[in-house]
Amino acid sequence: METLSKKEIIEILKDDSINEALLAKADSVRKKYTGDEVHLRALIEFSNICRCKCKYCGIRAENNKVARYRLSDLEIVKTAENAVAQGYKTIVLQSGEDMYFTADRLCEIIKKIKTYDTAVTLSIGERSRDEYKMFKDAGADRYLIRIETTDRNLYKKMHPDMSFDNRLRCLKDLKELGYETGTGCLVGLPEQTVESLADDILFFKEINADMIGIGPFIPHPDTPLKNADSGNFILALKVMALTRILLKNINIPATTAMETIYENGRNIALQSGANVIMPNVTLGDYCKKYEIYPDKHFSGSRKKIAEELKLIGRTISKDYGFRKYL
Ligand code: SAH
Repeated sequence: METLSKKEIIEILKDDSINEALLAKADSVRKKYTGDEVHLRALIEFSNICRCKCKYCGIRAENNKVARYRLSDLEIVKTAENAVAQGYKTIVLQSGEDMYFTADRLCEIIKKIKTYDTAVTLSIGERSRDEYKMFKDAGADRYLIRIETTDRNLYKKMHPDMSFDNRLRCLKDLKELGYETGTGCLVGLPEQTVESLADDILFFKEINADMIGIGPFIPHPDTPLKNADSGNFILALKVMALTRILLKNINIPATTAMETIYENGRNIALQSGANVIMPNVTLGDYCKKYEIYPDKHFSGSRKKIAEELKLIGRTISKDYGFRKYL
């Protein structure tokens, strides 16, 4: 299965009789290309203030029910320092599109965190190429920005105030600037088709993404999609498995959304192609306020994660966890 046509991908996504074989195949590709080590990324959700109006997202600008917060520069750096002391080798800085964090401010934060022994990933949405260049020069290693869906019509419906072409521009700039670039999609958005999910997978392959995050859509009560159905865990798992089979050596997280909507979802994902976990290290109740969807799952301590991984024959990686080439 070196390559798959769109038609073949659609057939696989539609046929639930082959799920077991598909997930086992993804697990064996994961083992061959990335090994049994699981990379832990310390996630710091440093601001839930956001200018965007993504229809599905609980921290969208128009939700006035969410308690907004913003960590100070020092709090962000201290949280990172603490995570590195615990053994984390990657810090992920994630936030809403909060323009209080100017490029200069973010660069100072990145530079301070880079004095610790860690890789830095940013997940802060759309910025200009110049800003992405500044972050890179300040030491940022990786960037996550999901395309969310490659179906342009659906993209417009979900993000009326945004431009699909600008999202593509961001991904192109990030790749060109030398970031390890991550993207991904939501599975189960209203009106999303299996055909468009096949396009999403082929898109990941086409741009040669270094990381892919895939999660089921989970309706949030304070958004326009509050009455929509939840995404299907198994379908999200299959999209993830196909992505592993086609892109082979990339990094794929067992996403928090998978764990949130399905019992034991994280372990199942780790045995169906995933090789990364992103534990939340945001302090206090800030992480509860970063409520992009309800009842967000929290992974627990590194010790607890290590114990759980042992049961499925996996260990915590001690390296930075860049994309590995055989
Ligand atoms: N502002 C940043 C980070 C967004 S939060 C950015 O634009 O990249 C990270 C991801 O959470 C989003 O990319 C989206 O795919 C996911 N997400 C948001 N709302 C969700 C929901 N209701 N259900 C599942 N995932 C959601």
